[in-house]
Amino acid sequence: MGAVSFSKASVRDADVAGKRVLVRVDFNVPLDAGRVADDTRIRAALPTIELLRERGAALVLVSHLGRPKGKVDPALSMRPVGERLGELLGATVHQAPAVVGEDVETMVAGLSPGDVLLLENVRFEPGETEDDPNFADALARLADLYVNDAFGAAHRAHASTEGVAHRLPAYAGLLLEREVNELMRVVESPEPPLVVVLGGAKVSDKVGVIDCFLEIADSILIGGAMCFSFFRAQGIATGDSLVEEEGVRLAEEALRRAEDADCELMLPVDLVLGEGFDAATARRESDGVEVPDGWMGLDIGPRTAAVFTEAIAAAGTVLWNGPMGAFELEPFAAGTRAVAEAVAASPATTVVGGGDSVAALRQFGLAEKVDWVSTGGGASLELLEGKKLPGVEALDA
Ligand code: ADP
Ligand code: MG
Repeated sequence: MGAVSFSKASVRDADVAGKRVLVRVDFNVPLDAGRVADDTRIRAALPTIELLRERGAALVLVSHLGRPKGKVDPALSMRPVGERLGELLGATVHQAPAVVGEDVETMVAGLSPGDVLLLENVRFEPGETEDDPNFADALARLADLYVNDAFGAAHRAHASTEGVAHRLPAYAGLLLEREVNELMRVVESPEPPLVVVLGGAKVSDKVGVIDCFLEIADSILIGGAMCFSFFRAQGIATGDSLVEEEGVRLAEEALRRAEDADCELMLPVDLVLGEGFDAATARRESDGVEVPDGWMGLDIGPRTAAVFTEAIAAAGTVLWNGPMGAFELEPFAAGTRAVAEAVAASPATTVVGGGDSVAALRQFGLAEKVDWVSTGGGASLELLEGKKLPGVEALDA
């Protein structure tokens, strides 16, 4: 892995006074009964928005929300997001009736320095995910320059993350820049020992990270449903546990590579089993990791949690992605809670990524105790793997 420190043009250096700036933000927030249920991602974009307003830019904000699949879906309108943003900014947020088009262009033309206009959900337009050149042109017509602050969407080559960046002077926003720097520090200059904790549901999404960290980490701790692909690869019975078939082959390879690597791959030594995926199901702790038929492994056991806690406490740098079990179900949350507490208490530099892992941290009230909480799940994994993010690559150097 080469030294690829962040070298893109920063919004801090952009001359924006009196200009219209199209800002791609990640306002893909959870909604509940037409209101924003968690405004973390909106708050994360405030520094860039405030900087641009202070410098006299007129802002045109654009984001996706959910998966409307190229069609207008009133349930996924940006309206509630604009309302919450207005409260946080203490300023009026104008809401566009569409993403692009004449009406929107008229609204943009009427903006004064410091004004904020929020476009409709960019995924109402089929051209967005297709990175359609005509749609990218239509977006570009709305502004003089472009800022990408949507780290969570930077791994997508879409019109609002990539296409438009090739059509306007294109800068990195403060959040995007910070995300890239914090995550790259983990792979490029981690304080040793580097301990990587991986869990969650899909091995195939995360095996690239295992690959990359086998080279540079001192240990990789594996929990969550992910561990069952490894157990299956080792010929251990997994009962009714969630096993991703594709993941078994990948786990076999990772186990083989781990033998030659100077990195310890640590799997659970005990588990918490449940009969079904619900909070009221029969539950028991198993000493050992064999799972009988009729049962599924839904959490790491207490001995594993203790071993993982110890490794995290002794680390110089910790990267955590993926819960240790079905933490949404209280009877199976203890392993994830133990890891979250260990990460929060560790003197190490601690970085947490992944939507559900971050949700777990918040659920336990520990998000403030971690050095960097990434707003990007998929984007953070791809960056850590050394992949190029289209939304970053497309920015001016
Ligand atoms: P993140 O969003 O942090 O990257 P993932 O999306 O990969 O994490 O995985 C989170 C999901 O994994 C959670 O919904 C959790 O319930 C589930 N999960 C974790 N461990 C298990 C398990 N042993 N069996 C079934 N589901 C699990
Ligand atoms: Mg997730």
